[in-house]
Amino acid sequence: MMRLILFFLISFLTYIPLSAQDQYIYCGNLIDVESGKVLSNKTIIVKDDLILDIEDGFIELPSQSELIDLRDFTILPGLFDMHVHLESETSKDNYIKPFTLNEADIAFESQKHAKTTLFAGFTSVRDLGGTGVNTSLRNAINKGLVLGPTVYSAGKSIATTGGHADPTNGYKADLMGNPGPKEGVINSPEQARQAVRQRYKNGADVIKITATGGVLSLAKSGHNPQFFPDEIKAIVETANDYGMLTAAHAHGDEGMQRAVKAGIKTIEHGTMMSEETIELMIKHGTYYVPTITAGKSVAELAEIDGYYPELVVPKAKAIGPKIQSTFEKAYKKGVNIVFGTDAGVFKHGENAREFGFMVEVGMPPMEAIQSATIIAAKLLAVDSLYGSITKGKKADIIAVKKNPIDDISTLLNVVFVMKHGKVIKYDEM
Ligand SMILES: [Zn+2]
Repeated sequence: MMRLILFFLISFLTYIPLSAQDQYIYCGNLIDVESGKVLSNKTIIVKDDLILDIEDGFIELPSQSELIDLRDFTILPGLFDMHVHLESETSKDNYIKPFTLNEADIAFESQKHAKTTLFAGFTSVRDLGGTGVNTSLRNAINKGLVLGPTVYSAGKSIATTGGHADPTNGYKADLMGNPGPKEGVINSPEQARQAVRQRYKNGADVIKITATGGVLSLAKSGHNPQFFPDEIKAIVETANDYGMLTAAHAHGDEGMQRAVKAGIKTIEHGTMMSEETIELMIKHGTYYVPTITAGKSVAELAEIDGYYPELVVPKAKAIGPKIQSTFEKAYKKGVNIVFGTDAGVFKHGENAREFGFMVEVGMPPMEAIQSATIIAAKLLAVDSLYGSITKGKKADIIAVKKNPIDDISTLLNVVFVMKHGKVIKYDEM
């Protein structure tokens, strides 16, 4: 018996992994998003999943450590995209998928999108709505079963009957049923509270509502207000009780104002944002998530015959192209900006196109990068561990060939990705 116990003990001990070698990353340039400065010739020391230290110059390697030589590259913290949909990706047959895909099918597709996103340098994302598979995807990534960014999941977003995220819009009558708070459709403050609590129970991190009509839903208006103020207020109050961040999809101005006044923390798209709403957002400290890339993409795709249903085409053509000028106006007036693209509405992995659109209309590259790193981490209240290359934080580190301050398009070609101290991608030159 004793021999047997000893045998198991020895077998167990041999399976304890040796602690990984410390990794020394030589950085040609290093973007310090905290100070807004580009530093040069630094060494980042990574121990397990954390940044142990950052030293001046290229320090000598102790034995039993590993060198990652990025002297020819610019190093940045892993990027955040505050608005993605990992469960799906634009395609001509997207509208038939609710009838043909099971949740397991969605899960397999979503793991591909998660991997693509991580390989593009986005080590953290906020998933603003799907079927709920997005929450399971988050768990699978956290367990190490699937390769992907750290996900903050909204589960299924909340709409009103016939509203933008009512999951049965456009169905024939006997398929429509009557989705309720559990499915994310509410029609009173009571139901609003119930829907938020249900999402908390389902394991969501954030609450997303569709405060106005939307471009891609099978409904006539892309901008009408779709919640009463008391309903949004009930959502925000309940979400606050549970410590959940709130986000509102909004194209039209009236619905946007109601969301801002009720205390929603981020406005997504914001297309028809008025001067008055800009003032309100500044007063309330609301953040704007522009999603310019999605706007431009839907306008382009609407030109392809038959790509979208007929009801969607005029909305895509009218709303899509407006977002970039709204962003320009909001940024110049001083609205808080946090980076988000609506990836899924266009191809996953192209998230960094957004940087180019932001810089094109006047945002300095450093500010655009800060909006996708430290500002996003602070908004999610995870900045003690994420959002910058700082001693003690998680080693989420990426590299690009050029200095993005001189050429922002270099962020479209991320050559190195490390997540939690593990090298995910390293395209050696
Ligand atoms: Zn979206």
